[in-house]
Amino acid sequence: MKTISHSSLVLVRNCLQQYRCSYVELRRSRSVAPALAFGGLWDKALTAWHWGKDSKDRLFRGHAVLLMHPNELQRETAKAMLVGYSTLWGDSNIETVATQLEFTSPIVHPETGEEHPEYVYTGVLDGVVRMPDGRLLGLESKTSSEDITPGSLYWERVTTLDPQVSMYLPGAKAAGFDIEGILYDVAKKPALRPGKHETASGFAERVMRDMQGRMGFYFQRQEVVRLESEARRYQQDLWDYACILSDAERLSRWPRNPDRCRQFGRACDYLGVCTGTASLDDDFLFETRRRGKAA
Ligand code: SF4
Repeated sequence: MKTISHSSLVLVRNCLQQYRCSYVELRRSRSVAPALAFGGLWDKALTAWHWGKDSKDRLFRGHAVLLMHPNELQRETAKAMLVGYSTLWGDSNIETVATQLEFTSPIVHPETGEEHPEYVYTGVLDGVVRMPDGRLLGLESKTSSEDITPGSLYWERVTTLDPQVSMYLPGAKAAGFDIEGILYDVAKKPALRPGKHETASGFAERVMRDMQGRMGFYFQRQEVVRLESEARRYQQDLWDYACILSDAERLSRWPRNPDRCRQFGRACDYLGVCTGTASLDDDFLFETRRRGKAA
């Protein structure tokens, strides 16, 4: 079976040519966008952090992971954020049950119950936790540059539309965990920027000072559940995307979307390929990704 993941769907929605380069030809740029690198770093640190026995142990485990990161500014910023995160959540009564839970679940038509013949959904849930009242929840950790305070647009989107949340419930069940919802855990990336002559550690100290007194601005957690009607709408979306991909592969139709060549101040990794100035076969620019990963 072929697989669809949250990351591949982002590209399908963005530009089918971008999807083809990344998920059909399996060619990925050798340079990783700083925002993606930071998100990956935070995930790795938290995976270690969750298995600590208390706030101090958790901070130690998270920092041990961060120490290995070669980018000093990202490393020091993440360390500062982890101090704030540990202060807020490190001694909570939430038990870690699993981390980095990989799952595969069928793509099911919401009306007929039919399973898609070509595609299944694969994903990775950051964790499964047991709440103080005994309930099992999935854990999804994110970093964001947006306003994450309660009532913000960020939470409006997460609680109604976030497609990952819709897939985590059946996905975790398929992996043997009967979760009742998702504990959505967000850390806001500092908007502060290092001064011209400021060291990375000096900058990190300034970030920590900024966090003190307004922890809720930087860290938020909310339980998210999906209404049956929302889950069905998402099932239909997923089914339709699987059909779009089936057709695109069968007919070799991968239209470009010039509206997406530049996003968030960064050019698409395949811009040179689309404009004819670079080749997807160039091993200096691209490497071949292994098949079968959920990313
Ligand atoms: S450069 Fe533009 S058209 Fe080409 S893959 Fe990227 S987003 Fe699509």
